[in-house]
Amino acid sequence: MSLIALQKKILHYTGKAINHFNMIAQNDNILVCLSGGKDSWAMVWALKELKARSKVRFNFTVFTLDQGQPGWDDQALKQRLEAMNLNYEVLHRDTYSIVTDKIPENKTYCSLCSRLRRGIVYRYARENGFNKVALGHHRDDLITTLLMSIFYNGAIKSMPPKLLNEDKDLIVIRPLAYVQEKDLIDFAMQMNFPIIPCNLCGSQENLQRQSVKALIHKMAQTNQKIPSNILHALSSLTPSHLMDKNYWDFKNLEREQVNGNITPFCDEQEFIQQEEDIW
Ligand code: SF4
Repeated sequence: MSLIALQKKILHYTGKAINHFNMIAQNDNILVCLSGGKDSWAMVWALKELKARSKVRFNFTVFTLDQGQPGWDDQALKQRLEAMNLNYEVLHRDTYSIVTDKIPENKTYCSLCSRLRRGIVYRYARENGFNKVALGHHRDDLITTLLMSIFYNGAIKSMPPKLLNEDKDLIVIRPLAYVQEKDLIDFAMQMNFPIIPCNLCGSQENLQRQSVKALIHKMAQTNQKIPSNILHALSSLTPSHLMDKNYWDFKNLEREQVNGNITPFCDEQEFIQQEEDIW
């Protein structure tokens, strides 16, 4: 796809997700997290473009966390952000030493690393007057996380496009929720973004995530709509056809029953009355 077509496509889907979930409001001050990877670079670029075109006035600052990984080099990243004329902050916090100290070498560091990073990002956002935090997760992250949660945790949940944090003082948004990873790979190459790889830390990618991604990829070869159907499933629940008693009152369905041929076994009040009549 040409660069122009790719830019249009990414802006279209980013704008669509922002609108659908009302991600950005007037006077928002957003901390936009740039890891240095392809996804967050595309998010930074898209938000800059959309800000220039939007009637909604909002501000954002690009935030990069240098986690002290061996070989970390952010010179090219800073130069590119300056060339884009964007406000940015690169903060150094050595979470790498904590992670390598606590996690055995053959295990993946990602879970602890992400928790530490989230704590630092939230604290920085709070202390510097931001009301929202933007993360660069894309469509394929959302659907892979959903299937991983079903397969390995027995729960239907994923990464929401918009989330109020536990302390209720920050809203996390994911403007790339509708954007396909393959477009982000192509876009990063054509835009020549200065990528900082996430695996400087030496951590292996989570094997479960790898295998679920491979499964979706394989299924998509037989039907290319499968990934977007999985994403659609996230916004199209039918509680009456699931099994969660908190969302559907299975116990008392008889009360709703109006079909003349099938009468409810017994209404609670009627049952009490019948009992009284009998005794
Ligand atoms: S790959 Fe390394 S830097 Fe990236 S999340 Fe995992 S542990 Fe952290």
